[in-house]
Amino acid sequence: MGTERLRRLASDNQKSLVNFLRDMVRIPSLSGRENKMAIRVKKEMEKTGFEEVFIDGIGNVIGRIGSGKVRILYDAHMDTVDIGDRKNWKHNPFGAEYRRGTIYGRGACDDKAGVASAIYGGKLMVALGIRGDYTLYVACSVQEESAGGKGIEYLIKKDRINPHFVILAEPSSLNIIRGHKGRVGFKISMKGKSAHAGTPWKGKNAIYRMAPLIQKIERLNSRLSSIPPLGKGTIAVTKIDCEKASLNAIPDNCAIYLDRRTNTKESEQGVKRELRTIMGRGGKLEILQKFFTAWELPRKHPLVVSCAETYKALFRRNPKILLWPFCSNGSYTMGEKGIPTVVFGPGEERFAHSADEQVKVEQLVQAAMFYATLPGIIAKRYGKI
Ligand SMILES: [Zn+2]
Repeated sequence: MGTERLRRLASDNQKSLVNFLRDMVRIPSLSGRENKMAIRVKKEMEKTGFEEVFIDGIGNVIGRIGSGKVRILYDAHMDTVDIGDRKNWKHNPFGAEYRRGTIYGRGACDDKAGVASAIYGGKLMVALGIRGDYTLYVACSVQEESAGGKGIEYLIKKDRINPHFVILAEPSSLNIIRGHKGRVGFKISMKGKSAHAGTPWKGKNAIYRMAPLIQKIERLNSRLSSIPPLGKGTIAVTKIDCEKASLNAIPDNCAIYLDRRTNTKESEQGVKRELRTIMGRGGKLEILQKFFTAWELPRKHPLVVSCAETYKALFRRNPKILLWPFCSNGSYTMGEKGIPTVVFGPGEERFAHSADEQVKVEQLVQAAMFYATLPGIIAKRYGKI
């Protein structure tokens, strides 16, 4: 395959790729409110040569190219987190400013850059007439940030996309991510007895009851064992709350929220058991959302090898193949469904969810080239599926 031709075509397309991403950044798309963004995305897919484009029952936009044997799914999410405190932004979060090769704004990196590059990967593939025995689906999914994979779950269960391989176009600095930690959120509530703050001995302060547990959780974090390849799980108290508390009453309730990151050896049951042990009696443990499983593909897995081969062919250097401390839709695709998954995308992880979120256009273009090339390389390796 002519890498030079691809490079030329990619650079010819740079302007429209940039415009597309800037358009998307200008459209706010909080989780559950991706409609307008979906319409814009669908329009671009239709314009760029996808053979079939549709919006499914939950709002995911799906485009298809080819109808070969090996089914490959590129997933990028359309929703973003909120902008946080506007004062922390030097750039207008919805201004889509473009300066010296960088685009700024909410979603510029997480994950509208992935949406833009995945769609343009398809466009380049079609324009170059790269064909192989594969079907490529590009899915721009909803509700990744809020509901942790509801969009992709719908895609696989209801739309019956049923891919053999999944590439998550999430900001990975163009590194190949072959696994990541899992995640689960907990709430622990403690009851007390209310009294006037002037006579605290008449009540039972729920915060005081909670305090020793908070310290135990901090100690638990340092005790968690490190298991290769993902290393040490973590636990952190991320919020403390007293409902309807008056500032001059002894609180009769206290709740803490925990963020627990897991490695591949830690199960939902095990993690709950560990918490119940340190809680002793008293206190109520609730799981928030669900348990997002940790997962890992071996370095030698053919999908990882195909990604590395694509990267080397295009950029003439070895890729970094890493594991992540973050969580993604991979917890569903690989963690739950066992579909080989890799994360690869434009944009740096540190800009995700941050003020002055940004992405380098150079990475957008390189990611699009990667997405255009990878399906052919996978199909060659997996021709007999
Ligand atoms: Zn993301």
